[in-house]
Amino acid sequence: MSTEWTRRQVLAQMGIAAAAIHTLDPHELCCVVPAHAQTADKELFELKKVGDGVYAAIAATRYKVNCNAAVIQTNDGVVIVDSHSKPSAAQALYKEIQGITKQPVKKVINTHFHWDHWQGNQVYAAANPGVEVLASERTRENLTRPDAGVGGVPYIEKQLASLPGEIAKLKDDISKATAPDVKARLESNLQQAEAYLQELKSLKPTLPTRTVSSTTTLQEGGREIQLHVLGRGHTNGDLFIYLPKEKVVATGDALIDWMPFLNDGYPEEWPQTLTALEKLDFTSIIPGHGEVRPKSHLAFSRGYLTDLVAAVKKAAADGATLPEMQKSVSDQLAPKYEQGMSKYPVGQYRDRVPVNVEMVYKKVVKKA
Ligand SMILES: [Zn+2]
Ligand SMILES: [Zn+2]
Repeated sequence: MSTEWTRRQVLAQMGIAAAAIHTLDPHELCCVVPAHAQTADKELFELKKVGDGVYAAIAATRYKVNCNAAVIQTNDGVVIVDSHSKPSAAQALYKEIQGITKQPVKKVINTHFHWDHWQGNQVYAAANPGVEVLASERTRENLTRPDAGVGGVPYIEKQLASLPGEIAKLKDDISKATAPDVKARLESNLQQAEAYLQELKSLKPTLPTRTVSSTTTLQEGGREIQLHVLGRGHTNGDLFIYLPKEKVVATGDALIDWMPFLNDGYPEEWPQTLTALEKLDFTSIIPGHGEVRPKSHLAFSRGYLTDLVAAVKKAAADGATLPEMQKSVSDQLAPKYEQGMSKYPVGQYRDRVPVNVEMVYKKVVKKA
């Protein structure tokens, strides 16, 4: 059974249970995975070549989401972009990388501070003494700020506090479930949640050792790697990793292949930041989540953000209530965006628009 086929089968099965995700935090972007997939850690990531010595590690969907990584080989070591939500995921990818090269990991770059992009840093640091962890200055600050949002050291404590409740709810749901497939999925989720709690308890937060506050070029073992600070978007510290020769950009969650998460974002500035990114000469996007996309995906995502802000402003000016605009904006933008933003069983258009509308309403209209 090939990896490709198994992943497709897993995705198909997850689709059946997509409705079960609604009670969870919007950014958990979580999903359910059939029980048979649980032991398949080797399938956590699928390495896809996007250039000579450049790979996108596309994360399989898990109950506790993992981000994608970019893996960049150089003449004297490896550079990794983002490290997922947990050390075991980073360890799984690291093992796959070692199947390609035995060279040491020299640098880990965190695109932003969200929990699912940096909590695996410790794996690379432990295995590679002297590894540099890079991020923007703002991201470094966010990683220790108590009010930064869904990531950072304080957010580990919040997760530790909330996980026992989440686990109790899963147990309760299991006791009420009658259909064998639903029960099996919930049991798998419970197993993942319990394992995640154990990992979090022993997590060794590994923070950036070097920060950049403006665009910086690294000459890394014969390869040019540019780090672009282009403005606020998904967070106030988004870092874009650009390989000019290979024409590849890794964007973190400033661009993903499903609905964007706006809760820690800047909906009015985000499109401008993407326009600055668009000026770079690239052909492939390694997004924070989902498959590798062509450059045209940038305009599509920016269009959604621009249209969303305009539609919410208009609805508010017309006197609509929040629940009214959650419905009307969702319907209004659907012809252009629903299909393109509902390709996976997670992060789908209709599930996410209400949260996006609420965030734009708060941040842009109410300016809260
Ligand atoms: Zn993410
Ligand atoms: Zn994020």
